[in-house]
Amino acid sequence: MPERLYAPVKKLSEQCAKKIAAGEVIDRPAAVIRELIDNALDAGATKIQVEIDGGGIDRIRIVDNGCGMSKEDLELCTFPHTTSKISDAQDLLDLRTLGFRGEALSSVSAVSHLSITSTRNPPEAWKLRNSMLGATPQLEAGRLNGGTIVEVSSLFENFPARKKFLKRPSAESTMCKNTFIEKALPHFKTAMNFSIQGKTVLQLPKHDSYKARCLAARGIKEPETLFYELQLLGDSFSGTLVLGSPAVSRKDSKNIFIFVNNRRIQEYSLVQAIRYGAEGAFPNGAFPIAFLFLTVDPACVDFNIHPAKREARIQVLSAIHHAVSSTVSNFYTEMARVSVHSQKEDNADTAEAPSFFDTASRNVSQSQTHKQNAQRFSDSLRFAEKSAFYRKDVQAPSEPLSAQPVGAYSSEQHTYSESREEAIPYGVDVPIDSPSASFKFLGQVMATFLLVEKDDSLYVIDQHATHERVLFDEMQAEKGASQELLVPYRITTDGDEDDKALHAQAKDLRALGFELEQIAPGRWHVSAVPIYWTGSEQDLQHDLVDSKKHPKGILYHILARASCRAACKAGDILDSVMAYRLAEKAFTLPEAFCPHGRPVWTRLSRDELFERVKRT
Ligand code: ADP
Ligand code: MG
Repeated sequence: MPERLYAPVKKLSEQCAKKIAAGEVIDRPAAVIRELIDNALDAGATKIQVEIDGGGIDRIRIVDNGCGMSKEDLELCTFPHTTSKISDAQDLLDLRTLGFRGEALSSVSAVSHLSITSTRNPPEAWKLRNSMLGATPQLEAGRLNGGTIVEVSSLFENFPARKKFLKRPSAESTMCKNTFIEKALPHFKTAMNFSIQGKTVLQLPKHDSYKARCLAARGIKEPETLFYELQLLGDSFSGTLVLGSPAVSRKDSKNIFIFVNNRRIQEYSLVQAIRYGAEGAFPNGAFPIAFLFLTVDPACVDFNIHPAKREARIQVLSAIHHAVSSTVSNFYTEMARVSVHSQKEDNADTAEAPSFFDTASRNVSQSQTHKQNAQRFSDSLRFAEKSAFYRKDVQAPSEPLSAQPVGAYSSEQHTYSESREEAIPYGVDVPIDSPSASFKFLGQVMATFLLVEKDDSLYVIDQHATHERVLFDEMQAEKGASQELLVPYRITTDGDEDDKALHAQAKDLRALGFELEQIAPGRWHVSAVPIYWTGSEQDLQHDLVDSKKHPKGILYHILARASCRAACKAGDILDSVMAYRLAEKAFTLPEAFCPHGRPVWTRLSRDELFERVKRT
């Protein structure tokens, strides 16, 4: 061994060890904000004021009205591993506070000038001053009306290596503000203020719901009526999901937030669960706005795996994943359905003023139709909220829920289609505007749409969406038929939990036409698939394992994919019989939107048409 590589083992000085440990918890001003707000919340504060100067590097001050600290608490709290929140390792299994490691104040005091003024007995208070040089903390008597004031200044002054990696104060300020918002989102009952250089930048009063807090804290401009609060419930978890309607979309996932037990976590699979659920409702790669607040039994979640608690190990992740994607998917499916139905009601109600260029969808051009949507969506809310309430026996998105939607229409409205069945047999010359028809077929345009005049309105029918829906409904009626594979597909899972989930679903999957068998831990063979299955081994892996979908959701996905492939496309020239048939079908569909959520038809009323050409 070359001698220079050798050095004897020795114990680091306490000061040095403390600095190293501090570095893990406190890496920038935003981390101080995070820890100090956590402390204020754990202290039961109902009001928290956060002030920063110089990006939080120069000064951070947090005032709370929580339970406060005694003189003895203050004497102890800046030493490592001092906490009032747990007593032994057993308590780690039942954490109900944001802090528990007893290292935030000691870490902050190792890398800054820290002072804490607090009282248990107002107005008598004690003030602790801690210099980062490791000198014994100084206590002096003071006065305070209640709660605690923590002041941190000259962050990393004694830690140049760390200070070098900080960004410009304006960028650090933004990070502090984002941390503040993350803390404010789940704690909607706590009034919270944030100011930079003496100027208030965010003032959040006590709110009465997650929804109100989310919109205020994130500065979301769209009307509140376009957002909903849905409830989730499982064996060892529950949750609230604040979800935007499809009329509000974003181009990325930055507005999808996941919280577990009031902490924001980076859990990609739950972001995915929301996206899976929203599939179809947000065409063209758009994303919903969603805030998921989960409460998970502390025994099933471990936050002790990340210094900043940004990641967590959740035992019941699979079940949560299912609950979230089914809730989202049921919600959007119901919303679309109710929206279509109330549209039909509108059409029937001639006394009502005609609307804008109506569409069967909720993905309408935003600015013009916001108000209408708001009304329609709030009408549908009562029903949709009900449908989104997740239970273990949750309904498949493809199956209409049994409750009657608000503004429901009766199937009698479709009876005309049955009489048409005999009037126009296939292969016979079509009486395009037979007097008995309840609509006048005008023809195909742009090789994509079918034009129809009906009830004093012009209808533009999407040929692909209609055909897709028709096939989807037919396939759905035949579910369960299966085709055997010559060579079984192989799929793998991430381990025990996924295996268990697959076993639990095996019966349902078999009913859909899948035949699967576990051959080793984490390894499965699939020897038969539903007859409409058109995917590859990877698709199967995705649908059965990775997507963590409910079996009914899997079937929906398979049928949607198969019907999409089999349907006529935009660009296909249709013969007149087929075109007429499709137009007719478009009005008889129980759900006038394609499996991906696009509307089957769009309506232009007579009055709207007249208004457009300035003929009144
Ligand atoms: P932890 O939060 O993990 O317990 P900290 O170092 O953050 O560790 O805080 C140590 C202790 O100081 C806490 O357990 C709590 O008892 C007390 N404390 C800290 N901040 C406050 C506050 N704002 N109000 C009341 N008590 C506080
Ligand atoms: Mg703490």
